[in-house]
Amino acid sequence: KNVLVIGGGGREHAIVWKLSSSPRVNKIFASPGSHGIQQVAKTQNVPLDLNNFQDIVKFCKDNQVSLVVVGPEDPLANGIADALTVEGINVFGPRKNAARIESDKNWAKAFMDRHGIPTAQWQSFTLAEEAKNFINNAPFDALVVKASGLAAGKGVVVAANNQEACKAVDEMLGDKKFGDAGETVVIEELLSGEEVSVLAFTDGNTIIPMLPAQDHKRIFENDQGPNTGGMGAYCPCPLLSPKQLEYVKNEVLDKAIQGFQKDKLKFVGVLYAGLMLTPIGPKVLEFNCRFGDPETEVVLPLLQSDLYEIMMSCCEGTLDRQNIKWKQDVSAVGVVLASRGYPETSSKGQEITGIETVTVNRNHIVFHCGTAFKNDRLVTNGGRVLISVALAPQLHLAAAKATKACELIKFDGQQYRRDISHKGIARAIL
Ligand code: ATP
Repeated sequence: KNVLVIGGGGREHAIVWKLSSSPRVNKIFASPGSHGIQQVAKTQNVPLDLNNFQDIVKFCKDNQVSLVVVGPEDPLANGIADALTVEGINVFGPRKNAARIESDKNWAKAFMDRHGIPTAQWQSFTLAEEAKNFINNAPFDALVVKASGLAAGKGVVVAANNQEACKAVDEMLGDKKFGDAGETVVIEELLSGEEVSVLAFTDGNTIIPMLPAQDHKRIFENDQGPNTGGMGAYCPCPLLSPKQLEYVKNEVLDKAIQGFQKDKLKFVGVLYAGLMLTPIGPKVLEFNCRFGDPETEVVLPLLQSDLYEIMMSCCEGTLDRQNIKWKQDVSAVGVVLASRGYPETSSKGQEITGIETVTVNRNHIVFHCGTAFKNDRLVTNGGRVLISVALAPQLHLAAAKATKACELIKFDGQQYRRDISHKGIARAIL
């Protein structure tokens, strides 16, 4: 069987790497793919116009593609799954109307309330005066201001005080800082606690959680400095107890799937719950409608079962027949190597060396997030460049190996955190 994977970051590299090990997969096309992805057995990069769904349909028909896996959220929000499904092509990823769970925060919050899913209290506004009035008189600490639409993770302001929250409102509704994405703002109660990600496979009827993971959003160690796309992750995350995971399955994931059914929406693919473990229990910060990055790079290496079979069963509505198995007693830690200036800017074109000295080790994988191959040399080509992933029987060993490996990989201006998974390690020791 042939598969097309849409995307070209670290997440898609991990998806392609895992799919490639399936005996049922003949050939994998990746668009745009990457130099790292192209190295994976059975894989070929193909340059498709990702805004032209008819071209993608034609490519799939010409190349006997039996499954399309959509990595990023934008094509899903733009209706790629709808365009391919009407042509009879299997798509792992939700239709446009269900992808609103990620692309429209105002809609997602109303969905959560409607279906009794625990989340922060909120209100949405289109007028700045009303929003500021609400902030100053809210029945809770209303200090999180979010642009309702997609803003590549940059549309959320966790304000230190009401003044900062009002400033964020003015920027979004007044100055149109995020364009259309900020035409509506969601103002939320500030929650506190640890953040954990639970990704789950679903066919629209059955939903099966993957192992929980934790991302590290801030650029510097000890969670200091500005937010990034994610500086590393680990899995499984012991901060979520088995009892809490059960609660998340029943109160968040099952309720979301039942909610989609009640709303007559079909959700196929990965539903990602970004959770805050508050003192009164887990609450949903956000839903994403696809695999997370960098969580995927540490979750999929622990998956024992065949990813292609799972994805096909999601498309065919037979997920209940899948017995999904995970590697037992193994932890995975991924440390992101970012380029100079990230997250404000990124320096491109710096030569990268040393990856082979890491990947000779069986329990190390290096996924490419932003690299390019120019003039016979591998160079940096984005803010997040590579992620060094190591597997080991214990979390602290995996962390030590993944971090140590970063010393062997060299490029000018590289930055990485040496404390990825520290909270999990502390919890595992307690
Ligand atoms: P991304 O997809 O990059 O994770 P996003 O733009 O979709 O981000 P959210 O996940 O809703 O936005 O928020 C981003 C971050 O802001 C969260 O990971 C969390 O750290 C913080 N945050 C969001 N909502 C709250 C809240 N109600 N209380 C406290 N912190 C919050």
